[in-house]
Amino acid sequence: RTATTHYFGAGPALLPTEVIKKAAEDLVEYQGCGLGLGEISHRSAPAVAVVNTTKSNIKQLLHVPDTHEIFFLQSGGTGEFSAVVYNLLASFAKKAGKKGKADYLVTGTWSQKAAEEAKRLGVDVNIVVNGKKASANGKYDFIPEPETWGPFGTADDTAYVYYCDNETVNGVEFSYVPIVPEGVELVADMSSNILSREVDVSKFGLIFAGVQKNIGIAGVAVVIIKKSLLDKPTDEELTALKIPLAPIVFDFPTVVKNNSLYNTLPIFNLHVVSLTTELLLKNGGLKAQELISNRKAEKLYAALDAAPSGVFNLLVEKKSRSRMNIVFTIIGEGKEQVFLNDAKAKGMTGLSGHRSVGGIRISNYNAVSEESVDLLIDWIKKFSS
Ligand code: PMP
Repeated sequence: RTATTHYFGAGPALLPTEVIKKAAEDLVEYQGCGLGLGEISHRSAPAVAVVNTTKSNIKQLLHVPDTHEIFFLQSGGTGEFSAVVYNLLASFAKKAGKKGKADYLVTGTWSQKAAEEAKRLGVDVNIVVNGKKASANGKYDFIPEPETWGPFGTADDTAYVYYCDNETVNGVEFSYVPIVPEGVELVADMSSNILSREVDVSKFGLIFAGVQKNIGIAGVAVVIIKKSLLDKPTDEELTALKIPLAPIVFDFPTVVKNNSLYNTLPIFNLHVVSLTTELLLKNGGLKAQELISNRKAEKLYAALDAAPSGVFNLLVEKKSRSRMNIVFTIIGEGKEQVFLNDAKAKGMTGLSGHRSVGGIRISNYNAVSEESVDLLIDWIKKFSS
């Protein structure tokens, strides 16, 4: 890693150099305790302090109201596809005395996978919208207008509505919080845009994010849940209702009761999140970060849009464009390889599209500097002129 590292990978992704340097020191020895942070007990006072500090930083950054709880798991994003099912079916059963259904907004690869997992676990899944089916191109290249969604379930039969706020592979992002039927909980996967903008947490039953894009290294997922959803029936009651019991490491009430330390949490990995969130707070919080993220994304799209026609093919409809993952193809045999090779020669890497879709993907996470973005814009302009 040098001052000329310009990395645009989609995740695991770049983190602020000062965070990584401090974390590296703390891995060797933490706060003079003679041991590194990966070596101390997860129940020791310094480890518990890491959990509490990270919670407090996230609470401040997102203005998480007292109605909501923050906790951490080792599951990554995919583990949460399953954990959401067990836990929200249990919360719904507590309220309604029966097994609930679930509504999914499918707008890309990750929400599709989440819906498939819910089905696999025996949920009656209702696909409220499918971006690929609605697209003229048969691709996840836009978020259909809310008027076309539905029909939704109701508070009497549906536990939650699920969506992915930013689809990392397809490059579509919601610019608003979906409106869902009164009394049905809203669940969001924010793995690839968490802490890149302000969010009104009070609108959500649950938000989760694998941390390895904007805020940390792989190994931890952050969950923010409405406290009332931690109320669940007994295991016997759930079994009688044919609702599968959550594996204990995924049982949210158990994890919360133990301050995220029911089993061994990777404290070092969480510490990286603590350092990143501390830096965000120091730099003016999410209001400031949102301005930077938007500015970087806007100028990248402006450079791509300004290219003569026939050079780039921007795949996503303007209204649904992701600020975090900017996807496009380059027209002409072998041109993408030229673009990538020359970018690499200039120090810019991590620009290949996801293996399932190909093309180019520029990931514009929080740690990608304005300087890196400007360098890439210069290259985009040169390449297209
Ligand atoms: N959701 C989103 C939006 C993602 O981008 C990813 C990972 N790229 C996942 C879920 C899955 O995360 P993990 O690999 O940590 O299971």
